[in-house]
Amino acid sequence: MAFVLGSLLGLVVGQPATELKPIGDLFVRLLKMLIVPIVVFTLLMGVRQLSPSSLGRVGLQVVGLYAFTSALAVAIGLGVGNLVDPGSRGLEQLLAQAEAQSAEAPNAVEVVLNIVPTNPMGAMAEGNVLPTIFFVVVFGLGLSLVWEETNDESVKSGIETFFDLADAGAEAMYKVVWGAMEFGVIGVFALMANVFGTAGVDAILPFSLLIGTMLVAAVVHIGVVYLSGLVVGLARRSPFAFLSGSRDAMVTALSIRSSSGTLPVTMSDADENLGIEERIYGFSLPLGATINMDGTAMYQGVAAIFAANIMGVNLSLVDQFAVVAVAVLASIGTAGVPGSGLIMLTLVLTQLGLPLEIVGLVAGVDPILDRIRTMVNVTGDLAVTTVVAKWNGAVDFTAEAWSDGIVPSV
Ligand code: ASP
Repeated sequence: MAFVLGSLLGLVVGQPATELKPIGDLFVRLLKMLIVPIVVFTLLMGVRQLSPSSLGRVGLQVVGLYAFTSALAVAIGLGVGNLVDPGSRGLEQLLAQAEAQSAEAPNAVEVVLNIVPTNPMGAMAEGNVLPTIFFVVVFGLGLSLVWEETNDESVKSGIETFFDLADAGAEAMYKVVWGAMEFGVIGVFALMANVFGTAGVDAILPFSLLIGTMLVAAVVHIGVVYLSGLVVGLARRSPFAFLSGSRDAMVTALSIRSSSGTLPVTMSDADENLGIEERIYGFSLPLGATINMDGTAMYQGVAAIFAANIMGVNLSLVDQFAVVAVAVLASIGTAGVPGSGLIMLTLVLTQLGLPLEIVGLVAGVDPILDRIRTMVNVTGDLAVTTVVAKWNGAVDFTAEAWSDGIVPSV
């Protein structure tokens, strides 16, 4: 509603509607405020789940496939985004308002070296995303290792307290995100009034293209990576049987926009329809709902191209590799709740030196994009779970979905 009403106001009133811009800027500032704390808390929480002891053979297979498919998702998002260039038409006028913060691309060696911060606190203070992520992950793994090795009870309980604090901090940040998103209703209204007040009807096309690009990327990812690659290629089963068995989770994700909220349905699909044993899905699905977000990762790729288009910058190959790295890590740190992927977009934009105002613009259509990415997220969890279950002899292919007779198994 806010998106549509703000857009209409901008269209009808024109230039004067741009006076609302400070309200939109306030929303953008709130988002900026959240970046560093949310990365630190949620990544620590994620690393705790990945403690070395929980990473047995099954764990490695699950995590490996999760990471690999997430990287493919960003690549597909970037690929389709590059083909469509969703933001390249109609928003040129906005260029005058926001300037890209970094014009020249650093070289590949520098990008890789810069991942390691010389001063972690400095990286956090300056909001440098990749070095912050790197430090938090290394620190979290260090904590987990010490916890496993030490016999000193006080150190052990100190580490547990530390992780508990991170959990509490992450929960608190989700609350704050929720509050920011509530204000976002007004923020989006103001930002869209400003967009349409500046660009007029020309702004309709880029937003429609953005949604279209995301849809195409999602269909390609599900079709190529999940169905052809994982289900047919690795599990050697019918893609239609898989889709029919996963249908409830997919539809639920589409409607509630939360992979965590969908988890009970995802589990029941795995158990009852797909015949997967609990020893596999009991580990892989809760973990997937926390760290495996292919749709979210893909969205970062699409949105990065959209943002670059608006700013009239070309993303070099090095930039796009950096997007893959940040997007995969950001998707690991994304909570499975509505709208959290939008906050994570700030990471990718910061990494690319693109203005965060774009997040405010994308926020208007985010409820639609969020549905698409959440559906991809849970489908990915189930596809990987099916493959790992097959590898470990933990799936009953006589179960309902596999033998529903729609299409014989491959
Ligand atoms: N809503 C998504 C999910 O729960 C996360 C996101 O916003 O990308 O999977």
